[in-house]
Amino acid sequence: MKNPLEIIGTDDHFHDECGVFGIHSHPEAANIVYLGLHALQHRGQESAGIATSDGERLHVEIGMGQVGEIFKPERLACLPGTIGIGHVRYSTAGSSDLKNAQPMRVRCHKGEIAVAHNGNLVNADRLRTNLESDGSIFTSSSDTEVILHLIARSHQKRIEDAVVDALMQVKGAYSLVFLTKDIMIGVRDPMGFRPLSLGRLDGAYVLTSETTALDLVGATFERDIEPGEIVIVRGQEIESFHPFPAAAPHACIFEYVYFARPDSLLWGRNVSRVRKSLGMELAREAPADADIVIPIPDSGIYAAMGFAAQSGLPYDHGLVRSHYIGRTFIEPSQSIRHFGVRLKLNPVREVLKGKRVVLVDDSIVRGTTSRKLVTMVKEAGAREVHMRISCPPTIGPCYYGVDTPVRAELIASSHTVEEIREHIRADSLAYLSLAGMLRAVGEENGFCTACYTSKYPLEFPRERAQQLALFEKSRA
Ligand code: SF4
Repeated sequence: MKNPLEIIGTDDHFHDECGVFGIHSHPEAANIVYLGLHALQHRGQESAGIATSDGERLHVEIGMGQVGEIFKPERLACLPGTIGIGHVRYSTAGSSDLKNAQPMRVRCHKGEIAVAHNGNLVNADRLRTNLESDGSIFTSSSDTEVILHLIARSHQKRIEDAVVDALMQVKGAYSLVFLTKDIMIGVRDPMGFRPLSLGRLDGAYVLTSETTALDLVGATFERDIEPGEIVIVRGQEIESFHPFPAAAPHACIFEYVYFARPDSLLWGRNVSRVRKSLGMELAREAPADADIVIPIPDSGIYAAMGFAAQSGLPYDHGLVRSHYIGRTFIEPSQSIRHFGVRLKLNPVREVLKGKRVVLVDDSIVRGTTSRKLVTMVKEAGAREVHMRISCPPTIGPCYYGVDTPVRAELIASSHTVEEIREHIRADSLAYLSLAGMLRAVGEENGFCTACYTSKYPLEFPRERAQQLALFEKSRA
């Protein structure tokens, strides 16, 4: 059954991607990985899994749903050993079912190996076709399985060399954590699209997509894994090398705008501070003659705080978010106005009544939710609604590990800002410029901005390129 919330369209954001976590040499490896995954839950809620090694063999437990639902004490007890890796998933490649849940494990002549992957390979389809025509049998539709097949087929004897051999053949975005019976390997792709950080807990090395997971387990942050770097952890020893040809770094700027948790330290900067800076830049570029700044929670909170601080306008919460909607399958037969949006966000009339409101969010994807929210805020008594978005218009899909609608569904790919303003029924609408966004993150270079610019740093699959070309032609 399809969730009516999806039909109504309450979620007008890019979806999260995946989170990975690993620890080597800790007596409670499974429990620590479980906690780490809890802290990374915002990066994927469809499935989760943990793999551990007892020094002889690997143990894997995976399930559909959220970490707390899947892992009860009796299930964690099935994961013995002092090395563990884990994964939370939102499907970016491959369908959403248990076969695609991670960590994925294979047994081959090099031994057992499990992997947790955040990202998306752009040449996975071609590699898969080649492997299948050479006799490989795949058990999932996930691009991650391609990496395992390449490792299994490598002529390199040592597993760590086979990992390098395999990764030399793949292209795309990947932050990976591998587990064998005695080592943990962390890798970030040469362009460094996705984050991966290194920490320490009581001498044990920890790898995580975001530093917030280090805080939860009581680990200290050591450093980020560099683009193109591989680290091999054996006991309390760590070895690092850069086997790939150097490439210009392209960290995903949308991690700062939306994905990463605000309490994470991402590529040297605290995410909430960057989001506030985005709001401040926005207030400088697109001030509004208004009475109050209201965030769309939770995504617009920090940018709205920055906007208010820069503009001198008061900040308040005029929309209250329910954190407990979970999965709702019942929609009342007697229609309730804005039912889907209202389940998640409810306006506070006393805050909004008679006010000229600046409504701040981090993106408009399809425009459906923004339109409902603007109407709802006006019906709650706001005199004017001035929508401000803390990044540039989203004009292109992502091929590097983020689940996005196709280009045709992105409202900004085919509409001007004025047309979008009309569509969402706001009194004014402004987006932060690309230059403003780069100023806010503090670096001009080193970021992927392709969903705002359509300048893709890595070639993506031919069939998708053809679709894009057809679409561009139809717009001409
Ligand atoms: Fe991030 Fe957008 Fe680049 Fe994808 S296209 S990696 S979402 S900046």
